[in-house]
Amino acid sequence: MGRLEGQVAIITGGARGIGAGVCKVFCEEGATVALWDVLDGKATAEEIRATGGKIFFQKVDVTNKEEIQKAVDYIKEQHGRIDILINNAGIIRDRSFTKMSDDEWNAVINVNLNGLYHVTKAVVPQMKEAGYGRIVSASSINALLGAFGQTNYAATKAAIIGFTKSLAREVGKNGVTVNAVAPGFIKTAMTDSMPETVIKAGIQQIPVRRIGTPEDIAYAYLYLASKEAGFVNGELLNVNGGIIS
Ligand code: NAP
Repeated sequence: MGRLEGQVAIITGGARGIGAGVCKVFCEEGATVALWDVLDGKATAEEIRATGGKIFFQKVDVTNKEEIQKAVDYIKEQHGRIDILINNAGIIRDRSFTKMSDDEWNAVINVNLNGLYHVTKAVVPQMKEAGYGRIVSASSINALLGAFGQTNYAATKAAIIGFTKSLAREVGKNGVTVNAVAPGFIKTAMTDSMPETVIKAGIQQIPVRRIGTPEDIAYAYLYLASKEAGFVNGELLNVNGGIIS
């Protein structure tokens, strides 16, 4: 408890799923959290605030540079700093490659990759100036394994690894570390809609024999976002129950 006391964090896509888990864990650890999402994140923020968390919702689409800048300016004005950025927002538009439309391809590139670029670009200058920062982004096990119907998604999640390793080399000297987490099979709204038999078969492939939770991923983010992880830079942390490492 208290590992992020006094720190200010932005968590994109924080209204539900893994992002909501990250918001909860970071608040428990004392951070002040700006929850960004295109969905209404007021209820998630309210729930966490009711347990004593310092969290506020900002409606920010990560593909919209103006919204991002406004939200960043507000945080700097109200809290004076941004210590942590968790690039969690992401979408899927699954379709086998030959059937995939340009719209499905572009939508995923735009949110998962261009969105991450816009948000990181808006936050890095002030982290460099402050001489401290932690940037952690959501990759995926499917960046490494590939997945049927996910050429668009897997391409973005693999690109995030290259982005992470490259930015880490640029800003490490300024006290800013840049890392990524590759979640495996995690229980969210997406997996809740899958048939029970598919989930059971999936779990048989996981050495720890269970599906992951948003908290499993949140604790990985917590480590990489902590001061103690200052010598970990440009790393991809696999959190998948042992399917691949
Ligand atoms: P999720 O439940 O769909 O939550 C993602 C959140 O991001 C949603 O609230 C979503 O809103 C929001 N979002 C979408 N586009 C956005 C935009 N342009 N700007 C701001 N917010 C936006 O997803 P999740 O399963 O928790 O996954 C979170 C991250 O982990 C994603 O990057 C995902 O690729 C990665 N990941 C997940 C798994 C898994 O098993 N769940 C595995 C590997 C990696 P909408 O609902 O409106 O889209």
